[in-house]
Amino acid sequence: MEYYPGSVKNLIRHLARLPGIGQKTAERLAMHILQQPAEEANQLARSIVDMKKRLRLCSRCFALSDDALCRICNDPAREQKVLCVVEQPADMASIEKSGAFRGRYHILGGVISPMDGIGPDDLKIAELLERIEQEAIEEIILATGTNVEGESTAAYIAGVLAARPVKVTRIAS
Ligand code: ZN
Repeated sequence: MEYYPGSVKNLIRHLARLPGIGQKTAERLAMHILQQPAEEANQLARSIVDMKKRLRLCSRCFALSDDALCRICNDPAREQKVLCVVEQPADMASIEKSGAFRGRYHILGGVISPMDGIGPDDLKIAELLERIEQEAIEEIILATGTNVEGESTAAYIAGVLAARPVKVTRIAS
């Protein structure tokens, strides 16, 4: 490390903080970026800044989105009456990768976890109830995790929905 100039060391340090990137890979990436034309390196830097500036949560389902509504909420081909409830945007991404689900999503933003001081009010559950009503949702698929928190979050939501005219199914995620 010591033989690198400060600016290179700085880049290596930041790259090495990324998950799955060790010191060696960080050095290799830094050397690669160093050898690229300035325009390529600029585009890489700009894409990071641009993503952070544009990225927000979909105002309807709370997925990551560049716009007020995400691509899935905006897609008229998706089934409108079925919502899959997941913990985090990454969970939605893995269900999307499987390609098996044609409905839309609702992202809770976490799980109920009394140990961490996270209760139902800290999640997007009120928003879910509002959507069920406003969008006349007919089926809810609870796809939270299979650990204790995921199970109790699914049980809590199923309990809240028991009195409503909506079909609730549970799948392991
Ligand atoms: Zn959305």
